[in-house]
Amino acid sequence: MPPAGKKEVVTTTEQRLCTRCVLPETFPGIKFDADGVCNYCHRALTEEKAAAHRESARLKFEQILNDVRGKGTYDVLVGWSGGKDSTYILARMVKEFNCRVLAFTFDNGFVSKQAFRNMEHISDTLGVDHLIYKARLDVLKTVFNASAVGDELYPKSALGRASNICTSCMGLAKGIALRVCIEKNIPVTAFGWTPGQVPLAAGIFKSNPAMIRKMQELSAAPLRRLVGDAVRPYFLEEEHYERPERFPYNIAPFAFMEYDEESIYDYVASLGWVRPKDTDANSTNCLLNSYGIHVHLEQSGFHPYVAELAGMVREGRMTRDEALARIHLMPNPNVVNFVTDRLGVPSIIPAGQS
Ligand SMILES: [Zn+2]
Repeated sequence: MPPAGKKEVVTTTEQRLCTRCVLPETFPGIKFDADGVCNYCHRALTEEKAAAHRESARLKFEQILNDVRGKGTYDVLVGWSGGKDSTYILARMVKEFNCRVLAFTFDNGFVSKQAFRNMEHISDTLGVDHLIYKARLDVLKTVFNASAVGDELYPKSALGRASNICTSCMGLAKGIALRVCIEKNIPVTAFGWTPGQVPLAAGIFKSNPAMIRKMQELSAAPLRRLVGDAVRPYFLEEEHYERPERFPYNIAPFAFMEYDEESIYDYVASLGWVRPKDTDANSTNCLLNSYGIHVHLEQSGFHPYVAELAGMVREGRMTRDEALARIHLMPNPNVVNFVTDRLGVPSIIPAGQS
């Protein structure tokens, strides 16, 4: 235990890790067999089964696009963070799948300036409409600061998937994207979640009011306790639930498309995308992410991207060594300090320390 009053940043370096993926002994619900392989690896689909699943999901995806093309205002809303993954999905939806796309960005107040420059340039060259929803900074500050200090907002198990800060931000971003889809009658949403972020089985699903009401309440209730009615614009109202025919398909194309980081970087570079210099190794758009990682390490003792990276290793889409290198890279202290300054909370890393 660190001495009282002094918080220690725990890295995964000294921890016991699964010998197949990279999940650490501190991960919720983990158990190791005699060979040091974790229960999550045992549960995962075998390579061959995963490939068959991917193929049938890909066919279903094309079928859905054929069914919806040309029917609504737009064919697809693409959630566009400005990072490499969502930029790649956006471009492929336009160029390869010939969809009429509305690109939608939730501005959480911490999007890298370079990410915005990339989006301006690429939306022009791709010829897509781009809707940017800039959220109120005072509301976001309250939400992010409360997310950073405590783990009472969400069940402990949520820390296995992301930092509380990311969970809060995603709840708002996904909520408002769905609301836009229903209001504008857009039949499909596509997000650039990486294969590790979304299980294969959740790569395509048709949302319905009952399911969404449950999911939205899980996201909205903790936030409503913090900011009251200010959270309303980000979630659905009764009038939306009364239009079940407008609830979109939710698609994470990377769950069934190939995912190779190098070729994604090459592809988006060919569109004029430039990697921001101020984000951490796991994000190519969001500055808040560095702070979220720092806080999550303190709260849980493991890196918030570990589940995602473990999934990529298991599916053979990343080597175990690459994943290890990624989780051992600590956030840039200058970026973390910029974020704490903007959030109005004390800085947590002395400048110059890494
Ligand atoms: Zn494992």
